[in-house]
Amino acid sequence: MKNCKICNEPIPEGRLKALPGTQVCTQHSNASAYRGNIVNYGRSEDDMFQDIDIIRDPHLFEKLEQYKSQAGQSKS
Ligand SMILES: [Zn+2]
Repeated sequence: MKNCKICNEPIPEGRLKALPGTQVCTQHSNASAYRGNIVNYGRSEDDMFQDIDIIRDPHLFEKLEQYKSQAGQSKS
């Protein structure tokens, strides 16, 4: 059983059989080519702001997600 990388819902079995390497559910398969990454800007909390960076390369997006989860773990 695998979950969608975007919404974390289980990917339907039929889709997994047809596309064993898929990482997103049917609903998000069309959007997989373009993904948004929220980026924080600013040197201090007072002048922080966020923007959305559009990522077209799914592999780059995965690396970013891995980096973010590692960064989150080291903080706690
Ligand atoms: Zn999904």
